[in-house]
Amino acid sequence: MKSLRASLASVLIALLSLGTARAAAPLKALILDGQNNHDWKSSTPHLKQVIEATGLFAVDVATAPGKGGDMGAFRPKFADYQVVVSNYNGERWTKETEEALVDFVRKGGGFVPVHAANNAFPDWKGFNEMIGVGGWGGRDEKSGPWLHWEGKLIRDLSPGPGGSHGKQHAFLMETRAPEHPVMKGLPTRWMHAKDELYDRLRGPAENVTVLATAYSDPATHGTGKNEALLFAIQFGRGRVFHTALGHNNGPDLTSQKCAGFIITLQRGVEWAATGKVTQKIPADFPGEDAVRSRP
Ligand code: ZN
Repeated sequence: MKSLRASLASVLIALLSLGTARAAAPLKALILDGQNNHDWKSSTPHLKQVIEATGLFAVDVATAPGKGGDMGAFRPKFADYQVVVSNYNGERWTKETEEALVDFVRKGGGFVPVHAANNAFPDWKGFNEMIGVGGWGGRDEKSGPWLHWEGKLIRDLSPGPGGSHGKQHAFLMETRAPEHPVMKGLPTRWMHAKDELYDRLRGPAENVTVLATAYSDPATHGTGKNEALLFAIQFGRGRVFHTALGHNNGPDLTSQKCAGFIITLQRGVEWAATGKVTQKIPADFPGEDAVRSRP
């Protein structure tokens, strides 16, 4: 009897500790980098810290070989993660790795391209479907519509290049999907720190919700349109949060230290990973009068 009780107790303890371990286990995120026309060696540790600061995620980094390197060795195990964040803009991966990423997202994984990650892979169909729209790399009207906002979303098929930006400056962001989990409760207008305001991004733009736009002022060599800059994309059973914000000038991370960039990224990564946002909105989310940055 005693030994039966003891073994029942040990089973109970094992079950309880398993439960506790599960409850405490963080979500897992993977950042991809290794090539970028921006200083990824400065931005990846920042992005990692920002995502881990939610208290929800443990973050790993998978670094692809540099230019001309052997991509055969770059085989991240996407399935070990809930969300993959791309800080990569460079050469194609192997067919296997590319298909593994598409498969991961299609089956319910999250994907978060940051800034120039949307410049990558102009000729990879699945990638462009995941990110919705991208820029440069020969993109033009054949890549798909340019998304801008004039009282409603405009899918502009007029001919022209896909991807440009004017002079760097701080600019006003405007929420266009206030009920979306990423945006719910955030101010409808907020100042974003000095950054490149990407314009004329183009792509398949299927199943895209434009979350926020910014006016691209001709005075700073912009388009005169409200350019779409934050996006939510449904891709199969997976979710993509795409932020076109976050330029860095070498190790200068001014745009990525904007509280608005940080908080929308944290919420977007959680939404991409789980379909929900449980984070409270911090008191330092910027309003429309001034930029608010974190150290
Ligand atoms: Zn940039």
